[in-house]
Amino acid sequence: MITALRGMKDIIDDAPKYEHILNTAIACAKRHGFSFIDTPILESTALFRRSVGESSDIVGKEMYEFIDRSAESVCLRPEGTAGVVRAFIEKKLDRSNGTYRFFYRGAMFRHERPQKGRLRQFHQIGVESFGQKSVYEDAAVILLAKDIFDALEVKYKLEINSLGCVNCMPKYKEKLSAFLDMQDDLCEDCKRRKATNPIRALDCKNSACKSVYENAPMIADFLCDECKKDFNDLQDILNQNGVLFSHNKKLVRGLDYYNKTAFEFISVEIGSQNAIGGGGRYDKLVEQLGGKPTYAVGFALGVQRIYDLVNPPQSKREGVYIGAIDDEEIAHIFSYAAALRKKVKTFIEYEPKKLAAHLKNADRLNAEICAVIGEEERANGAIWLKNLANGDESRPPLSRWLESDFN
Ligand SMILES: [Zn+2]
Ligand SMILES: [Zn+2]
Repeated sequence: MITALRGMKDIIDDAPKYEHILNTAIACAKRHGFSFIDTPILESTALFRRSVGESSDIVGKEMYEFIDRSAESVCLRPEGTAGVVRAFIEKKLDRSNGTYRFFYRGAMFRHERPQKGRLRQFHQIGVESFGQKSVYEDAAVILLAKDIFDALEVKYKLEINSLGCVNCMPKYKEKLSAFLDMQDDLCEDCKRRKATNPIRALDCKNSACKSVYENAPMIADFLCDECKKDFNDLQDILNQNGVLFSHNKKLVRGLDYYNKTAFEFISVEIGSQNAIGGGGRYDKLVEQLGGKPTYAVGFALGVQRIYDLVNPPQSKREGVYIGAIDDEEIAHIFSYAAALRKKVKTFIEYEPKKLAAHLKNADRLNAEICAVIGEEERANGAIWLKNLANGDESRPPLSRWLESDFN
């Protein structure tokens, strides 16, 4: 038997949850003025090396990277932002000085050690906004994320931080590097990060590292005046709009391209502190990938990360089930079903069956109406109906029933 690959899962039992999360998030994103974008799952490996960053664990050890039949190095996307930015530049939208707001949803791939809530193929819903310098846009993206989690009735806490900018971050990095150089018991990952991007060390989950970093210098104390003002303004805007948050001075994002605002939504329902979504500002990425300098801020949530936190609404009985008692009626009910499907969800059974079997089928399919044609109905040009929601039975003329509007 051929099975799905390790860390990859079919969405069958979870399909109602998946659909509910997707529909809810997309409806919120549209209300916030974001429009749909879909980019290829397979991209040039260079795209992720240049955007996600060599120092990240993703590029370092988790990418599904291979040489294709044209001898090109290609990669299954490990995250959604890089592809959207590439498309944005390729379409020359960076040259229009306009504002563009996109949402995407889809599969991402990371060759991680599979564990609960972490798959090698997982799904993200994300938004990217281009062209806005205003910190109001950072707040707007956070409010959108909040609306999505609220609509899904997921409980969270929001943490924010500022990662500084090209003016203040380098000075801080020097201080942090000097601090890291004095430490003897860093884990292997942090030793590597020390050389590539020391900020990422603060993200380490290793408990020994964590306690070392309690005393590390924090970016909050090194922000330049502009970054300080933006960060204060952001907090004011969030406060004025009833968004609860805390300032986590050690919050850095797993990817290299963020600057200024960084934020993370953390589930408060799961035992372990679990990030369910996050994002921030990335004003340098468009330029880094060859476009015109463009302000940008975005957010992504992990669909599988919130599976256990979401209860899709119970689906109501819906639509029509149609069946026949005798074989000679099957061709007719097939035509009736084709007509009905233009206005109402319709199930059809191709095998002639007794009434009780049809009722059982209709119930299993969660249909609202069970419609059956037997000998008596055929003789009278009628159809037998049972409303499975309220138990009402009737036998209207077939032609009139087919013309009803099924609201
Ligand atoms: Zn700054
Ligand atoms: Zn570490």
